[in-house]
Amino acid sequence: MSLVLPCFNEEEVLPETTARLTELLARLEKKGEIAPNSAVYYVDDGSRDRTWEIISDYALRTQTICGIKLSRNRGHQNALLCGLMTAPGKVLISLDADLQDDLEVIPKMIMDYRQGSEIVFAVRSKRDKDSYLKRYTAESYYTFLKLLGVDVIYNHADFRLMSRRTIEEFRSYGETHLFLRGLIRQLGFKTSIVEFERAERFAGESKYPLSKMLSLAWQGVTSFSAYPLRLITGVGVLVSIVSLAMAAWALLLKLFTDEALPGWASTVIPMYFLGGVQLLGMGIIGEYLAKIYEASKNRPRFHVETVCGVQFKDRVR
Ligand code: UDP
Ligand code: MG
Repeated sequence: MSLVLPCFNEEEVLPETTARLTELLARLEKKGEIAPNSAVYYVDDGSRDRTWEIISDYALRTQTICGIKLSRNRGHQNALLCGLMTAPGKVLISLDADLQDDLEVIPKMIMDYRQGSEIVFAVRSKRDKDSYLKRYTAESYYTFLKLLGVDVIYNHADFRLMSRRTIEEFRSYGETHLFLRGLIRQLGFKTSIVEFERAERFAGESKYPLSKMLSLAWQGVTSFSAYPLRLITGVGVLVSIVSLAMAAWALLLKLFTDEALPGWASTVIPMYFLGGVQLLGMGIIGEYLAKIYEASKNRPRFHVETVCGVQFKDRVR
């Protein structure tokens, strides 16, 4: 088993995380649940603090810690992808470095795997440790995605188990803008769900500011749904019908009554309104166009600068 943890400026949590994960690995190994060469794979996502020093130091001292260093900060989703594509093992479990994901469900995930599940999604049963804003926005977002017809698991982030089989299948997904929780859902195979209560971040601050959260949310919508584009068409049709009716009404007034006044409001208001609708429509089309542009460049999603740890001893860089 390999545990994959993306880390961005996580010097404050790494000692505790490492201690708890090492203890977990030892416990599972003793029970014969996992092979002795199971290990933790930290992916340093271009941290600016001592994260990489700490990771490489652990990797020198213990067999169970390995590190992968990205050449720069590429964001959580890319770092996680790099870990999943690089770490060996029959079973890969991804989780956050800040101990918000409950380690005690890992044995349950392994049990599900033994019973035939190729992917096990860990789902937050409660989020009362999250701030009100985070909880509210996250939960409404999952509902919104469902409304758009995107197949995501409610309250599942990136804490999941994947078998070697599904990792290899996932390799062929070349998307530039990653929304892993949605993409991995597309794979199919036999899956199951385990529940856990999300804890508070052990130390440090969230590395997901509002801007990163919004960007991930937007990726989720535009990667899986063409609904916003269809919405523009819908609004367009609606506005056209209304303006047609208004034109007919104006014509009738003009032809059959003498009430028709040269109106300023009736000219200016539709102009503003139509201008707004058109700009909105063009903006949404532009967003999708930008996505196609990025994808057509087909650039690599990450570069590995260096690796450390015994599991990588035959990899010369
Ligand atoms: N992370 C990362 N790159 C980034 C931002 C975050 O690798 O650019 C990692 C971070 O170190 C953590 C995980 O992604 O292990 C989740 O981030 P965080 O806990 O800050 O997010 P939150 O739980 O607040 O949503
Ligand atoms: Mg966190």
